[in-house]
Amino acid sequence: MKARKFQSLILDNLTSLLDPHLCPGCQQTLLDQQTFCESCQQRLRPVEHPCRLCGLENQTNDDACAVCLYDPPRWQRMIAPLQYQGLTRELMMQFKFSQSLHFANSLLQTIIHHFPGQPAKPEVLLPVPLHHNRLIERGYNQAFEIGRLMSLIIDIPVDTQTLVRVRDTEAQVGLTAHGREKNILKAFACNNQKNYRHVAVIDDIVTTGSTANEVTKTLHRAGVETVEIWSLARVSL
Ligand SMILES: [Zn+2]
Ligand SMILES: [Zn+2]
Repeated sequence: MKARKFQSLILDNLTSLLDPHLCPGCQQTLLDQQTFCESCQQRLRPVEHPCRLCGLENQTNDDACAVCLYDPPRWQRMIAPLQYQGLTRELMMQFKFSQSLHFANSLLQTIIHHFPGQPAKPEVLLPVPLHHNRLIERGYNQAFEIGRLMSLIIDIPVDTQTLVRVRDTEAQVGLTAHGREKNILKAFACNNQKNYRHVAVIDDIVTTGSTANEVTKTLHRAGVETVEIWSLARVSL
């Protein structure tokens, strides 16, 4: 990243963090305790009654949906509180492409209570890593930034050494579910020197779950027993 761009990025994020009184959705002045104005808050749609395994809306009275009870995913829990649409989608796109960290921070503030505290909390947050070629190109890993913000609020350390990307892959956007699975195959490696047993994998958005699936496979092979997938938003299928 060019120095000037980096400088303006820092300034932009700092100004917004220091001046939290403007609504990130419409820029109108907020009351002291507000993160969004009332009308923008209404536009952030949480997933109603989410399944604890796939994060999608669950029509049953169980905590897992019928699909997951029949064919459970590899991971042990998914928390992705917001529907990836409308204002959430707009803010996350800006977070991704303009690196506006304060948008992610505002979204996170509104949903942080969904992520568990003691004693059920994971030992560590593992952001989904980018391959270093892509990190150099983009200068920024959204998953890491979200992990860092979460870590500050819920006091779980972030670890960027244990889970690494060993294969550079095509972007998943535009691929079918099967294409995504193939594309991400064997993309990760885990060196579980710290002997973690219970982790939360952090990503910005969960789409088909193919990345989560591949990461979980890698972590289970390395001896992690409980893998939770935590992200800000879930794409409904
Ligand atoms: Zn607003
Ligand atoms: Zn489910």
